[in-house]
Amino acid sequence: MSQQEFYLDSNATTVVLPPIADAVMKALTQEFGNPSSSHVTGIRAKARMERTRALARQVMGAHSGQVIFTSGATEGIQTAVISALQTAKTRPMPEAPLLLYGATEHKAVPETLKHWARLFDIPAEVRAIPVDGRGRLDLDFIAGHIDRALMICTMAANNETGCFQDMAALERVIRSGNPQVPWMVDCVQALGKLPLALAETSIDYAPFSGHKLYAPKGIGWLYVREGAPLTPVIAGGGQESGLRSGTENGAGIAALEVLFGMMLSQDGAFADHATLLGYRAQLVNTLRGVFPELVFNQDHDCSVPTTLNFSVPGFSSKELMDLFDAAGIRVSSGSACSSKVTRSFVLDAMGLPAWQSESAIRLSFGPAMTQAELDAVCERIDSAVAALATSCLLESDRDAEKHGLKGLIQFKAGSSCCWLYVDPDSNHCVVVDPVDSLNQRLERLIRCQDLVPLAILDTHGHADHESSGVALREALFDRIPAELMAVDALGWPNSCGTRRTLADGQVMPALTLGNSVLVRAPLPGHTDDSVALLLSRNARDTLLAEDIDFAFCGDTVLAGTLGRTNFSNSQPLSMYHSLNQLSVWLHPDSLICPSHDYHHQFATSLAAELREGGLLAEVLSGGMGEHAFMLAKAELDSGLCDQAGSELMCGATVAQSGGAIPELSAAELQQWRREGRRLSLLDIREPHEFALSPTSDADNVPLSRLVDFIGQQRYRLDSDPMVLVCRSGSRSLLASQSLRRLGVTNIHHIAGGHALS
Ligand code: PLP
Repeated sequence: MSQQEFYLDSNATTVVLPPIADAVMKALTQEFGNPSSSHVTGIRAKARMERTRALARQVMGAHSGQVIFTSGATEGIQTAVISALQTAKTRPMPEAPLLLYGATEHKAVPETLKHWARLFDIPAEVRAIPVDGRGRLDLDFIAGHIDRALMICTMAANNETGCFQDMAALERVIRSGNPQVPWMVDCVQALGKLPLALAETSIDYAPFSGHKLYAPKGIGWLYVREGAPLTPVIAGGGQESGLRSGTENGAGIAALEVLFGMMLSQDGAFADHATLLGYRAQLVNTLRGVFPELVFNQDHDCSVPTTLNFSVPGFSSKELMDLFDAAGIRVSSGSACSSKVTRSFVLDAMGLPAWQSESAIRLSFGPAMTQAELDAVCERIDSAVAALATSCLLESDRDAEKHGLKGLIQFKAGSSCCWLYVDPDSNHCVVVDPVDSLNQRLERLIRCQDLVPLAILDTHGHADHESSGVALREALFDRIPAELMAVDALGWPNSCGTRRTLADGQVMPALTLGNSVLVRAPLPGHTDDSVALLLSRNARDTLLAEDIDFAFCGDTVLAGTLGRTNFSNSQPLSMYHSLNQLSVWLHPDSLICPSHDYHHQFATSLAAELREGGLLAEVLSGGMGEHAFMLAKAELDSGLCDQAGSELMCGATVAQSGGAIPELSAAELQQWRREGRRLSLLDIREPHEFALSPTSDADNVPLSRLVDFIGQQRYRLDSDPMVLVCRSGSRSLLASQSLRRLGVTNIHHIAGGHALS
């Protein structure tokens, strides 16, 4: 993809600017001497190192104290912590000693404190200093604890929010309570963004990293106040006056020399503070313009102008990252990724609402930003977000051409699934298993696509909450036909007059949507009111098993397992009969659409369950009687852990099996094409991503429509090899695994996705 890239992730790392890269190259190829060598080449290298050290002092406002070149900030943090702890060992230990750090500190700080305290056998508690809603440290907390502190670590500017502290007030509190305590201030994100005058403070240690400001990775430095304890971490040849052994990184130091020169000169290479404030204002305006509901997760009065952190209601950070990436704008999700939920510990510490923490986007730039670049960025943001309007994910008064929405669409919130089926031949739709947090998105989509929702249905009553269908029905009351507004407890319209005969001759109530029909049939077990909603794209009078395209079975059959039957209104024996019943109504390949998907398997089928050989397979193969089922089911339910995150688990979960999916590199794909091999290339990103950076020759099968796609392909799944691609290779892998589970054998995915092509 030859698309211009806009890099707005400078707090993670920066590009090396051309004059700095030139200096690095010169240091590598011409001025490569070892500063310890006594010949001319060595003398020159040493001179450059000392010039750079002097410039570092100017940049930091530190005419006294030590400047030690390091590999980066993490190393500087080690040195500071080891020095402080080593000193603590030589002094009388206070009662209940503490190692204090700001709750929003980079992980390098608390982890280093814990690590070395353990190795030094120091019995101190590593304690986070709380912050307020803006990220400012709780000074009262510090005042109340500093007398017991062996060290205190704070940061000059936060990497996620850009929040800076009131350093004068902080210093007063620290020093009035404990004049001797070693104080480290992580200055990584302050360099080039905040004025520094370290020598005018009592800060003992200040680590810096070159790569956050246009120098290469692998070079940094540590400022140590004159008289502060200092223990070398790396012993050896005695370089850096014995404070940090090992031959110095001459190329890195050469980079810093040029960087410092640029910072100190007035030649306009770096924007001044007023200009940076102007840039931020322009970005803020652009973002507010495209996302009217956007919320900033920071207070701009106390954050550096180069970091913006925001959330957009209704969008996860993953969705926004995917969107920006497709538009060539590199941003960060501003959050640490854990296996289940993505959220930011920094925003959590600030006490921001969970949704803000889960959907945070960080956008950061450096002082080398230019007005022209910023204008182009704002324009690109504008066009990227316009693409969301074409997917009806965002309200817009632009006359955007909208992607038509037909067939089955899957929505997910955590592991909960909600389904929207739009009849291909009319604008009629139904919502199945609504989820509260998705209501707004569904309402927007239904209005924007001009759909007529005939029903908002639950497959069962919920044990832990009231159905959000009630709220969605109210929100959409003007679009739902009046005669269908009166519904039963599961949302089924009272006045729905038609009926259909199922494969075993039973006649059930039905709802027609254009040429499709949705039949409701009882499926007790998980709860006594559980039903199956059987959808056929072919509205015949009698629906044979092969006519059922999708079966919404709620929590009865989940991919790889069965829904729990240990609620007070569960009936395990009924589930046994329901499963047998289902096997008559459904074709083995009819797609079962669950209301929970714990392992990104999207949907299942009786054939997939039979292949996997779990409890359902035993029932369907006739090898298990009622009693044995009840015992086995109780055993399965006993493995349920009730809380996965904050979710009530609706079925014991079974991890994905299925074996490895063959990977194809982008180069191999090219080779296949050159050889004229038949294949079908599926780009599984969402339509707005695809529209922003289309893949040539690919069909767009968004992950949210994967189940619909499988349904369409039911009888021709094993023709040409399918090759799946997405942004980074993770969605394509999940989709491939799901397709494999559902019986597609000839499937490959592009490892690394578009990122590596
Ligand atoms: N401190 C802060 C605030 C940071 O942002 C980072 C890097 O992300 C570090 C420390 C660690 O820096 P490095 O990985 O360069 O050692």
